[in-house]
Parts: sequence; C-alpha cells; structure tokens
Amino acid sequence: MKYSKMFVKTLKTAPSAADTANHRLLVQAGFVRQVMAGVYSYLPLGLRVLNKISNIVREEMDTIEAQEVLMPILHPSALWKQTGGWDKIDVLFKVKSRTDREYALAQSNEETVTPLAKEWIHSAKDLPLAIYHINWKFRDELRSKSGIMRGREFLMKDMYSFHATQEDFDKFYAKAKVAYMNVYKRLGLVAKATEASGGAFTEKVSYEFEVLTDAGEAPVLYCDKCDYCVNVDDIKTYKLGDECPICHKDNLKSAMASEVGNVFDLGTKYSKAFELSINDSEGNKIFPIMGCYGIGISRTMGVIVEKFNDERGIVWPASIAPFTVHLCSLNTNDETVIKKTDAIYESLTKAGIEVLYDERTDVGAGQKLGEADMIGCPIRAVVSTKTGDQIEVKMRSEKEAKMMSLEELINTCKV
Ligand code: ATP
Ligand code: MG
Repeated sequence: MKYSKMFVKTLKTAPSAADTANHRLLVQAGFVRQVMAGVYSYLPLGLRVLNKISNIVREEMDTIEAQEVLMPILHPSALWKQTGGWDKIDVLFKVKSRTDREYALAQSNEETVTPLAKEWIHSAKDLPLAIYHINWKFRDELRSKSGIMRGREFLMKDMYSFHATQEDFDKFYAKAKVAYMNVYKRLGLVAKATEASGGAFTEKVSYEFEVLTDAGEAPVLYCDKCDYCVNVDDIKTYKLGDECPICHKDNLKSAMASEVGNVFDLGTKYSKAFELSINDSEGNKIFPIMGCYGIGISRTMGVIVEKFNDERGIVWPASIAPFTVHLCSLNTNDETVIKKTDAIYESLTKAGIEVLYDERTDVGAGQKLGEADMIGCPIRAVVSTKTGDQIEVKMRSEKEAKMMSLEELINTCKV
C-alpha cells in the first residue's frame, strides 16, 4: 500500500476528548474515527488489525471444531419476549418499524442461535455442537468510555455450545479455555482466567479472561507468580496482601483489568425457553446444557494498544500489525533513492510481505519517521542518499537501527 494513496492520514494533535491511550493513539494514528461516544468507524489501518484479530480467533475456534455461521443483528422482538430478555435486559436496544413492528438489535445471540440449533439437534447423537460467529453487537451502555474498549456498537466473537450432559460441557469448556489462552498468547497478551458469578444470565459459574491494564474497569486481586486472579467484587475471602491461595509463593496484589473474553455455563435456560429437547438413553425428555463464549474483538484491539505503546506511538505485536514493514524513502529529490525504494517495495511485496510504503515526495524525513513510529508497524525500513546498497532497518520496539541487504530484510520479516 502506498502511503500517498491511503485513506486518512495521521493527525498532528491528539483528539481533545481522549481519556485513554487507545482512544488517543488510534485516532491520531489514523486507525479509527469516533462518530459518537461508543461508536467508531474503522479506517483501512484499523480494519486490517480488526480482521487480523478476528482471523486468529477464527483459527483457534476452528481448532476445537466449532463451526462458523453468521447470524443477524436485527431480531424480531418475539424471540426476546420468549426468553424474557425484552423486559429484563436494560442494555437491549429496541427499534420500531414504520408499521409499528418491534425489533431488538443483537446484544448477544442466544435468541437466534437456540432456534437455529433446534432445527438440527434431534437426539444425543447430534451433540455436542458448537457454533460461533463474529458480528457487531449493540448495547445501550450508560457510559461509553475508554476509546474502543466500551462501545455501544462493538465487534464480538460469540460461540454457543450444546451438550447432553454437564460432564460433556465441562470437557468442552476445558478445550475452549485452552483455545482462548492460545488466542491471547498469539495476540501478545497475558490473560488471566478468573472465576466469577454468572451475572444476569444464570446462577451458574462463569469465567472471565482479564488483562491487567489501568484502562480496564474491573478491580482484581492477582498473583504475579501464577495465574490466580479474581474480581474484587466476588471475593469475600481474600484481600490485598493475603498469600496466594493457589501457589502460596506471593502475596495478592491489586490492579485494574479489562475483560477481553468470558465463558458462561447457561444451563438449560435457553433450551427450555425454545423447547429444544432430546431423549436420553432411557427415553426421558432432557434439555441440552448450553455454554456461551465471548471474545470482545474490538475491545481486545483497544487493550493491545493500552499494553503496547510508548511516547512515540503504538508498538503493534507482529501477529496483528496492520503491515509488517513501514518503508520510507528519504531525500526524494534524488531520483536514485526513489528508484531504489520502488524496487525494494516491489521485491518485498513479491515475497508476500505486507508493506506500507511512504513514497511521498512533499514530506520531510522527520515527519515520515514520526508517523512511522506513531502507526507502529514492527519493522521500519529506510532508504536515503546515505544508505547506499543497504537498507536501514529498525525494529519499532528497539532503539538501534541496523544496516542490512534486501535479502536479510526479507529473512527478518519472515521470522
Ligand atoms: P462487561 O462486564 O465489560 O460489560 P459483559 O460481561 O457485559 O462485559 P459479555 O456480555 O459476556 O460481557 O460479552 C462478551 C465480551 O464482549 C466481553 O468479555 C467483552 O470483552 C466484550 N464486551 C462486552 N461489552 C462490551 C462493550 N460495551 N464494548 C466492547 N466490548 C464489550
Ligand atoms: Mg456488560
């Protein structure tokens, strides 16, 4: 992608209303634009990142044999009235048509997935079944803040599983937990799986995946030496400074965290509401146990920016960076520099490497390098009158640049 052609450029000043690093940097570096509180447009750079996160999530869900579908956002009110959500869920957005019909905007998809699965599940042989989709959710949040971390419109991966027995649910949950941990690891995040109460959905236990960050909204107690982490609201037993109840190697510390995903045991609430039943081996009618598994894709993108930034801008983990290489031609009044950089751009692209090429001729070196740092691609490659046959290469996360050949640069990109 040539920088001069790219839709939307970086801003000289940060947005005045930004309360968090992700809001400030994502807007200033040209990844998103705020339409109103909690609602954003994703620009080419931002959409590339969002799609990369979605694809990692997709690959890991496919690994546990969940199948991807795409369910609607606009739902008939009847489905939500059937489960009681229409009156009980305060964040549900309700829409009226011009003929006075009522609809709900998806805040989650139990109401569409359960009737869908019912068409397919007729006996225990059809179980377990896991279905997921990645789609926008709408919630009438009272306070939408922290940039893209709490939206009124946000991208979520929601998976739903159906099981004949509690044991089978537990087995699938354990697999899903591993898949979740793989997702976060590939995104460069350390997520702690915390046990929490089930909230509005169910009396059953749920698990939340928390990433420690000051921009998060959940106060937690955690152990540095192991994975132990718990929501402050849910513990009556432990307090700050207590010995870790799991590894006994450290004292519990307190921090703010952001919930990047969670898992609920829904029990039979939705299978009962939609009369989704099968017969057990003795011929008795039973309702499958359901689980739901969310990952806040757009929130996770915000959390990644919170964790990976410095005074100059974003420092994207390579797995989800919008481009691998940010190539800059300096001294563009020299025709040979332009020719050399054009050729490098072509070779890198041919080698399958994603390159953002700042080939502008009306912008100075300082601005080009500053914008490259702000956007935060993992590798910056510079060609100038001083670089000769070599390329000056600097990792975004390191201070020192190295001179290398095109071949070495290609190898560096493939690591
Ligand atoms: P929270 O406690 O943060 O409101 P939740 O318990 O309401 O989250 P779920 O309904 O389980 O969340 O949604 C699944 C995932 O979607 C959450 O783990 C979170 O990552 C993400 N999510 C929830 N609400 C929002 C929001 N308003 N904006 C962005 N992401 C969200
Ligand atoms: Mg919520």
